[in-house]
Amino acid sequence: MRRDSSVVTGVTRREFLAGSLVAASWTALGAAWPIMGQPPPVSAGPGAPELVDDLVAANRILAQEGVVDAFGHVSARHDRDPNRFFLSRSLAPALVTRDDLLEYDLDGNAVNANGRSQYLERFIHGEVYRARPDVRAVVHAHAASIVPFGVSTVPLRPVFHMAAFIGDSVPIFDIRKTAGMTNMLVIDSARGRALAQALASKPAVLMRGHGVTVVGRSLPFAVGRSIYLELNARVQLQAIALGGPVTYLDPAEAQKVMDAGENGSYERPWELWKRKALAK
Ligand SMILES: [Zn+2]
Repeated sequence: MRRDSSVVTGVTRREFLAGSLVAASWTALGAAWPIMGQPPPVSAGPGAPELVDDLVAANRILAQEGVVDAFGHVSARHDRDPNRFFLSRSLAPALVTRDDLLEYDLDGNAVNANGRSQYLERFIHGEVYRARPDVRAVVHAHAASIVPFGVSTVPLRPVFHMAAFIGDSVPIFDIRKTAGMTNMLVIDSARGRALAQALASKPAVLMRGHGVTVVGRSLPFAVGRSIYLELNARVQLQAIALGGPVTYLDPAEAQKVMDAGENGSYERPWELWKRKALAK
């Protein structure tokens, strides 16, 4: 049974430990955990201050650069425990502060929700972290420019060097194939697992009729890729609109760009984006 966050309020460590003893006695009696559902997972401790600062910045940057609006979210894997990650409570990314960040286990259970509402699609993050040990940051967005490539026969391909990480194309996740008729959202671990399977070892996966999920080995990589993927989509649509054949980066060219270092590890733009986002 999945824990209902709405009934978990203000649980301190002492109360939690006391609850654990109660749970043990209930288990001994062969009874289910009463009313509250499962106890919350134990925290792995606070995240590194620079990681927390960067996650707040990542939220603001994605809003500032038009990748997310009121919807969409970004997470970072915990620096102390690979089975935990940080993600804001349900909130528009432009408004996220340090106090809004929740710690989750990979099943999408919050350590410290304390009754705060949570993103329905947090399962995207947990299942991608479970499937991809190399990933330390995940972005989920509904950017309008990307949606056409998830619903048409035209693949999203790199039109310029800044999006060379696309390689030959981006896979498409069609939720209908594994979950039938749904509300289109990744609202449980099974749907999250199917999405992670479609992502495979790629940097991004389009979500048919919905949006995109982008991953990276750090927040600058996941955020930078999200920004340049969205820009590539717009430029590709413009190139197609001009008419005539479009010359994309050859996969061999894309590989050479990657071999030379992907966009300088996003260090220069990250410094710029972060300063602009946090100055507001
Ligand atoms: Zn979504």
